[in-house]
Amino acid sequence: EPIIRLTNVHKWYGEYHALDGVTLQVKRGERVVICGPSGSGKSTLIRCINRLEDHQRGHIHVNGIELNNESKNVVAVRREVGMVFQQFNLFPHLTVLENLVLGPMWVRKIRRPEAEARAMHFLSRVRIPDQAHKYPGQLSGGQQQRVAIARSLCMQPQVMLFDEPTSALDPEMINEVLDVMTELASEGMTMICVTHEMGFARKVADTVVFMDKGQVIEVAPPSEFFTRP
Ligand code: ADP
Ligand code: ADP
Repeated sequence: EPIIRLTNVHKWYGEYHALDGVTLQVKRGERVVICGPSGSGKSTLIRCINRLEDHQRGHIHVNGIELNNESKNVVAVRREVGMVFQQFNLFPHLTVLENLVLGPMWVRKIRRPEAEARAMHFLSRVRIPDQAHKYPGQLSGGQQQRVAIARSLCMQPQVMLFDEPTSALDPEMINEVLDVMTELASEGMTMICVTHEMGFARKVADTVVFMDKGQVIEVAPPSEFFTRP
């Protein structure tokens, strides 16, 4: 059973057909990169997987649970699926450590000592344990995005979704975020990444999905994808 399965998924924003019959499977441990032109539905696709958007037709299953309008499914899927956005979405008036402790872990009522231990563990994993007591505004963009990644990892998700995680960064900070993502991939994390970083796709992806006009046009390993004329 694939961890994520989309079957003929359709999504409209009013009249606009943003997802036009998307069928896609992601296996446990698979690293998927989604690419395609702006407006092709990449962001909508992963936001539907995380229930930030609802689809209107077709089926989405995450870890065997069908996503529908029942709120208990939303809770279940958010537990399994971590998400990192282009914008870091950190609370500016909280320290880095507080951002982690008072984020999803607080929502799930994880006790403070356990939450702090997890937060420090994952700040070390993204190589910024020394920034724990600073405020987001004192960090570089790359460091802030690594805080956002650590905040997601604290929930120990089975899948990580990345929506253009390096697009808002200065060029010199892109690699420090891609390095952390590459490390996660090498540890076996299941990942779906929307990114324009084709070097990352070539090196890290098992599967590249090319979208256009709300449809999946091609699904192929990067070796096949990048050598074609
Ligand atoms: P991509 O991530 O490939 O750039 P998106 O999924 O963000 O594409 O958007 C696909 C299309 O849907 C775009 O034309 C966008 O303007 C439109 N769209 C996205 N979100 C909304 C929304 N909330 N309301 C109306 N249209 C939207
Ligand atoms: P990205 O390209 O990074 O996915 P967008 O600029 O397409 O970002 O979308 C940013 C936010 O605005 C998203 O929440 C999206 O759903 C919403 N959005 C995008 N296009 C429209 C639109 N035409 N009308 C209303 N909301 C939109």
